Amino acid sequence: MSLFSIKMRASQKERHISGAERILPETKLPAAVQHLTERALHHSLGKPDYIQVKVEEIEPASLQYYPALPVSSIMANTVEEGKKALITLLEKEGIVHGASLLTLLEKRAPMRGAILYDLATHTCQEPDKERGVRVTYMDSLAPRPEAEKCHFQEALILATKTAHAPGMIGEICISDDPDYVTGYYASLTQGYVRISPLKEHGASLGGRIFIFDSRLAEVETVCTYLEKQPVCITDMALPPKKDPLFYIEEELAQLKKDNLYRTTQVLSAPQTTHVYRNGKEMLLLSSNTYLDLANHPKVKEASANAVLSFGTSSGGSRLTTGTQPIHEELEQALAAFKHTEGALVFNTGYMTNLGTISALSDEDTLVFSDEYNHASIIDGCRLGKGKTVVYRHLDMKDLEKKLKEHPCKKGIIVSDAVFSMDGDILDLPMFVRLGKEYKMLTMVDEAHSTGVLGKTGHGITEHFHYTCQPDILMGTLSKALGSEGGFICSSLPILSYLKNKARSFIFATAPAPSTLAAALSSLHVLQEEPQRVQALQENIRFFCRALHNEGIEAHSETAIIPILIGDEKKAVAIAAQLQNEGLLIPPIRYPTVPLGTARLRVALMATHTQEELTYAAKAIGKAIQTY
Ligand SMILES: *Cc1c(COP(=O)(O)O)cnc(C)c1O
Repeated sequence: MSLFSIKMRASQKERHISGAERILPETKLPAAVQHLTERALHHSLGKPDYIQVKVEEIEPASLQYYPALPVSSIMANTVEEGKKALITLLEKEGIVHGASLLTLLEKRAPMRGAILYDLATHTCQEPDKERGVRVTYMDSLAPRPEAEKCHFQEALILATKTAHAPGMIGEICISDDPDYVTGYYASLTQGYVRISPLKEHGASLGGRIFIFDSRLAEVETVCTYLEKQPVCITDMALPPKKDPLFYIEEELAQLKKDNLYRTTQVLSAPQTTHVYRNGKEMLLLSSNTYLDLANHPKVKEASANAVLSFGTSSGGSRLTTGTQPIHEELEQALAAFKHTEGALVFNTGYMTNLGTISALSDEDTLVFSDEYNHASIIDGCRLGKGKTVVYRHLDMKDLEKKLKEHPCKKGIIVSDAVFSMDGDILDLPMFVRLGKEYKMLTMVDEAHSTGVLGKTGHGITEHFHYTCQPDILMGTLSKALGSEGGFICSSLPILSYLKNKARSFIFATAPAPSTLAAALSSLHVLQEEPQRVQALQENIRFFCRALHNEGIEAHSETAIIPILIGDEKKAVAIAAQLQNEGLLIPPIRYPTVPLGTARLRVALMATHTQEELTYAAKAIGKAIQTY
């Protein structure tokens, strides 16, 4: 079988950017050419204007095989310490002037090739003083991570070949990559010793010194071996692994640096307009319990009674032993409330979207999704086998354009009814019309419209006076309905399909009877006390006016009123000041909203008083002016 050497070099305005090489059988050549070209194009040092890929056949019999040098590591605390460790290694080799070799390397850096230092004469012997000696025609038999450059493996290949050169004593190397502070000393006697750090982060200083002895081999012999002899390294070690916690801690530190680090905080007392944090009473202006039903006496009683009658757990999945009368009762009530043939309850709204969308999205399906859709919709799309096409936020023209551009066998269009971070409302009639016209299933997430939109809180279809109905209405029991869980209201075939295909429905223990009893009771209270919905809608109008009086741009027809701040750090500071004044409005940041659009997300309840809302609007106005 013929073997080929393949070499890539990339430069920009004659400055070297990256290089790599392989020795490969013919069959692997095309993929390697592509991979190396891509690697040349994406290097941290910049985009090349010149890429050379050279392919040569080599004689299989001429190939020499060596096992990789054994690897060890020295972790130093500082660059100074790292250099000291290196000098000690050189002393073991009988080289007493290690410090001056390091100075020599720093003086000559940056240099592409290596300095060839003769221990017999203490002189530099590399024939080309500017470029230095190069080591080429080498590779390993080991598999390597193709996607990225593996500094370690490439260095080990080079070091092993070099260590076997005639007359070679050892090699010192410091990488010229500014991000890579680990260097090494390598020799046949001591193996490959990684030393970190050998330079400061961000320093592009780097280079190599080959230390040889001209009493053992002539300069020419050494150079010919290094530059021409094909060598293949066997028994390659895998790159040394870091402690797995290292990556976790690194990521956490980055989040903190970017003001994106989050923690949970305890609120004592039931979720209603007033709560306690760290013993201090606060006005809660960010809860999703829009109708204040999570603490309603009737709802709590219904939930408690369900525990007494049916216990604390449903004990099984819905399709095995977990369906109790309350599950079906609630489903019938939801179907009646949303005017659909039936309903299906899931454990959470998140699981509802995840299970429903992924079940409907098979290989032949395209899902068209609003760019600001809730994370649970996005995750459902990701989990499905079909492709997703994202259209511009609330832009029905863009949706239609994308529907035209992407013909498909089957399709779904999915949108929030009320967007959770902006509080704006879907143009449902247009949405449904496009669905019909392009023969798409239409699905709308009513997490923030149920109990909020429409004169009597039935949601987005009531808001548009029942002029149109999407195929699938999704909702949560966790927001206005003051409980926990999610649901789909739809036609019977779609519901049967989901019962059989939605994995988050099938493979989860059915929600507990107490949770569902609370939701069912809330649904009754909502219908018995429609004035709650009207009070909420009045509070929305009142608060928007109060904000306008403070010079704050705010407009919403829903319980969600975003106050745009922009900068993440500023939003955090404003929220902290408001907290000092007894107002609980957490800052919403990336990744929940796009970077640079951090905001205060006010969520109103039916039971906030006008005095409370006036106080809040004034405090927000003042805090925004302070920062
Ligand atoms: C909250 C929310 C969900 C998830 O509902 P949970 O019941 O909290 O899991 C889904 N979609 C939207 C738009 C939401 O705001």
